[in-house]
Amino acid sequence: MKDAVTTDTPSKARVRTMARQGPALTLEIFPPKSERAENNLWSALYRLKSLNPDFVSVTCGAGGSSRERTTNIAKTMMARVGVPAAAHLTCVGVGEGQLEGVLADYWDAGVRRIFALRGDKPQDGSPVAMAYANATELAAAITKIAPFEIGVAFYPEIHPDSPNLQHEFDVLKAKQDAGASSAYSQFFFEAGTFLRFRDAAVAAGVTIPLVPGILPPLDFAAAARMANVCGASVPDGLKARFHAVEGDLLGNRLLSAAYTTDICAALKREGVEKFHFYSLNQADLTQAVVNALELAQ
Ligand SMILES: Cc1cc2nc3c(=O)[nH]c(=O)nc-3n(C[C@H](O)[C@H](O)[C@H](O)COP(=O)(O)OP(=O)(O)OC[C@H]3O[C@@H](n4cnc5c(N)ncnc54)[C@H](O)[C@@H]3O)c2cc1C
Repeated sequence: MKDAVTTDTPSKARVRTMARQGPALTLEIFPPKSERAENNLWSALYRLKSLNPDFVSVTCGAGGSSRERTTNIAKTMMARVGVPAAAHLTCVGVGEGQLEGVLADYWDAGVRRIFALRGDKPQDGSPVAMAYANATELAAAITKIAPFEIGVAFYPEIHPDSPNLQHEFDVLKAKQDAGASSAYSQFFFEAGTFLRFRDAAVAAGVTIPLVPGILPPLDFAAAARMANVCGASVPDGLKARFHAVEGDLLGNRLLSAAYTTDICAALKREGVEKFHFYSLNQADLTQAVVNALELAQ
């Protein structure tokens, strides 16, 4: 049901993100690589379940390498922890004639949401199966096979392959036309980065919910390295704040929680009511931020 919209609500963009058409809180995890990491993941998930997420999405490794692990974690998570799963699926790694089988496996396991992504080809140039050129083609193909709810990615600071912002909007609209029902952002370090993109995207004709991807930077150095790879900018002021707590475990955690809460609160003030947390398979920070913001329902 949509929230009531009064005449003095601010902008169309704001109204759109205020409308509760789907998940308010979603989480993302990745398939662990060792037994110990997997045990840690299950304990984290039991705690994260208390936040009542609409679903937890499970990434797949570069080049579609970990699809089997993605499937196993998604299935086990639903059966064991009792939270709905979304499976990430990349074009990279899906060969001609394989999609129906992959989707049937997810459908039979009770998965009803797919994140349709392109993925990235291996940097060493080794050959990969790739029957679909981009996420738009993949989303369109999924829609023809089964009524999955389809999520896609977007990049508030534009994708490294994109020539300009307008292209980013065009791609997002194409994904929407291909059947995507919501889009999840790359992480960013300033609320304004997301909000400017959201407002411009809505003005350009994007109508599906744009959900901010929130990365609580527990390990700031690692987050900054990831940002470098995916084209997200890191403000100097933030670098200085984390530099000041280097080597101070508690200080670092507190700063991470405070910073992430600040950014989410700023988004919330501007009408954002759906948040996708990159939990990095840990519960503490996501739990702290979600509780501070009273996002858990
Ligand atoms: C929320 C989120 C989750 C992610 N999960 C994973 C994961 O689990 N595994 C993984 O390997 N990677 C993941 N990624 C990373 C993602 O796969 C890479 O960023 C990849 O480089 C682009 O994927 P995409 O789906 O955005 O690609 P696309 O949307 O296909 O865009 C890539 C480029 O293709 C072109 N393009 C796309 N559609 C069109 C069109 N209709 N017309 C013209 N050009 C077009 C554009 O130039 C665009 O810049 C994720 C990213 C995000 C933001």
